[in-house]
Amino acid sequence: MVVNTTSTPQNIAVVGAGIIGVNCALALQLKGHQVTLIDKTGIGVACSKGNAGHFATEQVFPLAQASMLPKLPRMLVDPLGPIAISPKTMFKSLPWFIQFLNNMRPKSAKHVTKALKALNVNAIDYYRPLLEIAGVEHLLTVQGSLLTFESTPLADIKSTQQTFAGHGVKVDLMTLAQARELEPALKDNITNVIFFPEVGHTIDPQKLCIALAQATINHGAKYIQADVLDVQLDDGCAGVVVSRNDAIGNKSRAERISFDKLVLATGAASKSLFKKLGYKLPIQAERGYHCALTHHSLVKRPITSAERKFIMTPMASGLRLAGTVEYADIDAPANYKRADSLYINAQAIVENLPEKQSSPHWMGCRPSLPDSLPVISRATHHSNLFLAVGHHHLGLTQGAITGKLISQLVDNEPTDIDVSPFDIKRFN
Ligand SMILES: Cc1cc2nc3c(=O)[nH]c(=O)nc-3n(C[C@H](O)[C@H](O)[C@H](O)COP(=O)(O)OP(=O)(O)OC[C@H]3O[C@@H](n4cnc5c(N)ncnc54)[C@H](O)[C@@H]3O)c2cc1C
Repeated sequence: MVVNTTSTPQNIAVVGAGIIGVNCALALQLKGHQVTLIDKTGIGVACSKGNAGHFATEQVFPLAQASMLPKLPRMLVDPLGPIAISPKTMFKSLPWFIQFLNNMRPKSAKHVTKALKALNVNAIDYYRPLLEIAGVEHLLTVQGSLLTFESTPLADIKSTQQTFAGHGVKVDLMTLAQARELEPALKDNITNVIFFPEVGHTIDPQKLCIALAQATINHGAKYIQADVLDVQLDDGCAGVVVSRNDAIGNKSRAERISFDKLVLATGAASKSLFKKLGYKLPIQAERGYHCALTHHSLVKRPITSAERKFIMTPMASGLRLAGTVEYADIDAPANYKRADSLYINAQAIVENLPEKQSSPHWMGCRPSLPDSLPVISRATHHSNLFLAVGHHHLGLTQGAITGKLISQLVDNEPTDIDVSPFDIKRFN
């Protein structure tokens, strides 16, 4: 693979080694920059570790859906339902929820759909050369995904199918018998299935992050495990104040490292750094859970339940049941009963689900902005700062294209797609 060298190599720090940060780092290093990737917890150990592994290119609609409103009160009453918001979070994050609801207006929804389509349409193709460089092509499989229905009237399912098709998403409506040719384990209570033949999945999202980071390092990048406490930006210099952990977890004295440019890809924990730099970022931790059935894989591709709002994906380690939305503080204690509830839901849609072992549970914080669009942007007031955060439910899907776009912004090149919908200016 030929490295596309830029004419003016720069010394660039990428803060955050989740799927977004590692993609930014790799794209920049491949263009000949000297990249330093910095993370306080490790590579791919935050939200990017336990996601559902679904390259969900079909998801081109905003999360804020007016059709959701009538169902919301019932969902909220059930503490283990698909959406949970504590009264404390509701109060604290009221401005976020108001903005979220505001984005249900048809004009906003149209704008968001257009922007998400542009990001998603070739999202899988952006990954392919990177996986080749990293030698992990096997970590992306395109076998499609299924969306199952149990109680939704057929007319509504057909209307959903048409909505996807109307936005250029390839879809097939199937009977249960047809769907069972793809996935024999589907249960009798499923009435119909929408098949998305062009979407993909990975069998190990964390391994994917590590492989992309390793490829970046193999091309000359450095990795530092450290907490970025502060960022000091002057014309032509980006100073990063870090504190490293030693082997027994003691923090070192803060030290300042200087770079030419800086990319922040700090996920759900971005608010304080952005605030220090003078940028408003209405980011909300939208926490999700998974429960893993080790050593069992009943299905070949991701299967989502439209009514139960969860997904199951075959992973290298077994079957991963993932989903639920819990609006809460990043560091509030996890409620692993939400992960257990995924098993009960999975029993309802597939046969022969293995006994639930005392299986590993996981919780991660989706970095969610109220308009369902990420920030992929130059910083308004700092010429040497670039921002790649807020990919909510789609960070894995949009990782590679985000890295490419950030590398184009850094090099002041024309971008592959219009990035104006992702500009930080919209919140400032
Ligand atoms: C249950 C669940 C299922 C999901 N399923 C899918 C799916 O199937 N498909 C999909 O596309 N997306 C999915 N997602 C969403 C996806 O996982 C996220 O959008 C994505 O992981 C976000 O990546 P990120 O790099 O922005 O954040 P993260 O992975 O959270 O990485 C941010 C990193 O920044 C570091 N950091 C933050 N602040 C600092 C600091 N001051 N100093 C140093 N380091 C710092 C953190 O330590 C962290 O490692 C799912 C999410 C959940 C919760």
